[in-house]
Amino acid sequence: MPEGDSVHRAARRLQPLVGERLEAESPHPRAAVTGVAERVDGLRLEAVEAVGKNLLLRFEGRVVLRSHLRMRGRWFVRPRGSPVLGRPWLVLRGERLEAVQVNGPVLELSQRAVRRVGPDILARPPDLDAMVAGLRSQRPARAVGDALLDQRLVAGIGNMWRAEALWRAQVSPWRPLGEVGDDELRRVLEEAARMMRVSVDGARNGRAVYRKAGRHCPRCGERVRSRGQGDDNRIAYWCPRCQPGGEGPTGA
Ligand SMILES: [Zn+2]
Repeated sequence: MPEGDSVHRAARRLQPLVGERLEAESPHPRAAVTGVAERVDGLRLEAVEAVGKNLLLRFEGRVVLRSHLRMRGRWFVRPRGSPVLGRPWLVLRGERLEAVQVNGPVLELSQRAVRRVGPDILARPPDLDAMVAGLRSQRPARAVGDALLDQRLVAGIGNMWRAEALWRAQVSPWRPLGEVGDDELRRVLEEAARMMRVSVDGARNGRAVYRKAGRHCPRCGERVRSRGQGDDNRIAYWCPRCQPGGEGPTGA
């Protein structure tokens, strides 16, 4: 699943097209009906930025195109006129390069949804005070791991970085927010921001717990556990020895 860092990398790939007037086309029928390509065709691209998991393409005339990649969406940039494989949602052609968006599914000319997004974990610097305040606004019984995926509170953290940041900060995803100190919340957010920034810059971190259920924790050797968490049942990964507490009656 694209996380904030992959959206930031997409924004970086698209930078060479900024400043150009672009030809736009939507070969995919579901994208064509949105009318997005016609609306931006011929406009100058003024900026591309990542906001949480959204990619915002700002065109002249205050036209903003929002692209959310959901599970499978991708943006790539290649020389203009390269053969088209499949049916991209959107092709934006500049003089020498073209940007191609495949597997949608969110492409719209609206900023309304973006306003509901919380402070971006990849902002420079991230607004940790606002994130902690957002987390504190939740009911105290809400599990910290669940709250970290709530894009209204912290934008950009996905399942993998959630698991890795909690492990590094030694905070169990199952602990209720009311029992997690501000210093611990800050440490989790700092770890997420630091690892994701490294990832944006192209380096690869080894994973300690994400998708490592049953393997040994690199810090203490205990076996990593996994279980679905929250309304969306996203899988949480944690070490029950390094990240104790909060598992409730069904826990170890
Ligand atoms: Zn451990």
